[in-house]
Amino acid sequence: MRIVSGTALAADSGRHRRLAPCRSLIATPRFSLDNALVPPSVIGLVIALIARRYDTQQPVRLGIDLGVIQTLEALPADADLPEDLPWVAPGLIDLQVNGYDGISFNSPALTPDQVRQVSLAMDLHGVTWYCPTVTTAPWEILAHAMTTIAHAIRTLPEVADRVAGIHLEGPYLSPEDGPRGAHPAAYIHPPDWDHFQRLQQLADGRIRMLTLAPEYDNAPAFIRRAVQKGVLVAIGHTNANSQQIRAAVDAGARMSTHLGNGAHRQLPRHPNYLWDQLAEDRLVASLIVDGHHLPPEVVKTFLRAKGPSRCILISDITSMAGKPPGTYHSDNSGEIEILEDGRMVIAGQRHLLAGAALPITAGIANVLRYTEHDFQTAVDMASVGPASLIGIEPGRLQVGAPADLTLLRWPADPAGSIQVVATIAGGRLIAGRIPGDSPP
Ligand SMILES: [Zn+2]
Repeated sequence: MRIVSGTALAADSGRHRRLAPCRSLIATPRFSLDNALVPPSVIGLVIALIARRYDTQQPVRLGIDLGVIQTLEALPADADLPEDLPWVAPGLIDLQVNGYDGISFNSPALTPDQVRQVSLAMDLHGVTWYCPTVTTAPWEILAHAMTTIAHAIRTLPEVADRVAGIHLEGPYLSPEDGPRGAHPAAYIHPPDWDHFQRLQQLADGRIRMLTLAPEYDNAPAFIRRAVQKGVLVAIGHTNANSQQIRAAVDAGARMSTHLGNGAHRQLPRHPNYLWDQLAEDRLVASLIVDGHHLPPEVVKTFLRAKGPSRCILISDITSMAGKPPGTYHSDNSGEIEILEDGRMVIAGQRHLLAGAALPITAGIANVLRYTEHDFQTAVDMASVGPASLIGIEPGRLQVGAPADLTLLRWPADPAGSIQVVATIAGGRLIAGRIPGDSPP
């Protein structure tokens, strides 16, 4: 079999892996196991790898070319395989990324190249699609973010290949302390269709997700219009009552943003907006399961209440993610500290979280620690689940499916973190190394 190593191929990465956010241009597979008359050796696979399926645990040999899985062969359980065979799973999808390594999408000085840097950093965490997330800010900053991200998508293939759409979180949120979280009250205001349309125009129509608080009188009409335009509307940073939440969902809201965070410190025991959203089967909840934003018992209870198919993981990482432990200055939060355990806190006030700093893989590991759910379920919450919400085709382990995959290792040590061995997107190795390949 002619195998060009994934590592060697990484140099040949000039070709765009896709031309549009929706994977509508997937090539027709030229070979499948059903069509076994054509041996794999004539295909010229550009990546071949052996790994264990994340769903069935079956060891498989995968061949990838033209952006899709061309061959998928089950290997016998008694095959002579390495002990530490990695898991192969769909590429991860993170719908809430505020920045990385000192770069914030809310920065007044954001440049297209910085958008590229954050996009490339996602590769290291197994993320093959993500949503740059812009939060409540004065008009000039929102406008600058939309213009810059849209320009980056238009001109930089590395960005176009990774950005599933922009997530606008705010400014149509609750102004109350508690639900508004760190969103500056001065710039929070009711939903305003003209305001949103102007931002959407600057963004080239790339705003694909909008988090809002539905307690404003005009919220249902606004949500209806946004949904008609193809925007995924999420409820978040809200102080809505039961009727207002129901009206928002009737109007087409389909998600709860980081349920359990961006909330009052104390709530009436019932009814309250947590029960309302938990009980509403038409809402999928995104959860920050970084070990700090939600206690394990809450994660377990939320997952039981909604079921894993109605929960997805997000990282919600900020510009301080990717930095080693230490004290830093943040434009949004002032002096902040990143602790050894990954917690990001206000300097000198370690009980106050200043945002999230751990990648979405930390959420997968914590779901496994906190709940009875298995590896497939946890990974699906960070891949297949978000893909279906936002309307993109996820990587899948079947012939003809987009080769958006991640190879993962999870050390036997329960305190250990998930390691990303390699990330493959659009059929190309974009991070790490295919095990068995010789280093470059
Ligand atoms: Zn938030």
